[in-house]
Amino acid sequence: MIFDSHAHYDDKQFDEDREEVLLHLKDAGVERVVNISNGWDDMLRSFVLIEKYPFMYGTAGIHPCKVSDLNEERMEELRQYCRRDKIVAVGEIGLDYYWMTDPKEVQREWFIRQLRLAKEENLPVVIHSRDASQDTFDIMKAEHAGTTGGVIHCYSGSLEMAREYVKLGYYLGIGGVVTFKNSKVLKKVAAEIPLEHIVVETDCPYLAPTPHRGKRNSSAYLPLVIKEIAALRDISPEEVEQATYENACRLYGLQ
Ligand SMILES: [Zn+2]
Repeated sequence: MIFDSHAHYDDKQFDEDREEVLLHLKDAGVERVVNISNGWDDMLRSFVLIEKYPFMYGTAGIHPCKVSDLNEERMEELRQYCRRDKIVAVGEIGLDYYWMTDPKEVQREWFIRQLRLAKEENLPVVIHSRDASQDTFDIMKAEHAGTTGGVIHCYSGSLEMAREYVKLGYYLGIGGVVTFKNSKVLKKVAAEIPLEHIVVETDCPYLAPTPHRGKRNSSAYLPLVIKEIAALRDISPEEVEQATYENACRLYGLQ
């Protein structure tokens, strides 16, 4: 059984055939999906999907590139959304110094406020960090470590930092990028950190694994990611599939 810990099926790239794609996930062994909130409107679209599909869960939270969607009133609304049925985490939240849609200080402020919201609402966090790994880590350690846990989605930092996150009890999300030839550091991370701290994810429609790189991604490609992690660790794909399924259930507090 496969658990896609991070997907965006509300994305317009699925507008043509969303139903078709989702109804066929079971054929690929995909049993559960967490659809991750991005901007405010994306979040509302995600809520419609999780209501419709029993195997799909959701998150509430605003991506670092969309924090201009937030204000005081909406922070209160977000708190109410955290209490909804099938909302299993706050995310994706974090820092993005690559796109830098908002200044660093603004991103950091909303990141910290959403981390605190997660603590108060007793939900784990889904973290997005791009070109900001040290700042993300420092804020996580100062503001969140030892509380509700969470996942560093699409992990792209060093092996040393991966070990630090593991020490703090976080999970690392690994997806299609691990299959790319040039992902040397990530392959090392996938091989060396304890299996109990790894979850698999698509981030679909983005980041399709080899040989579908550049095309639209879906949870049905996760067996390729699982196979790669298994090869790197020299264990069976079944073992990786089973462990990452259980890890994702534990991360998101699902039975
Ligand atoms: Zn994402």
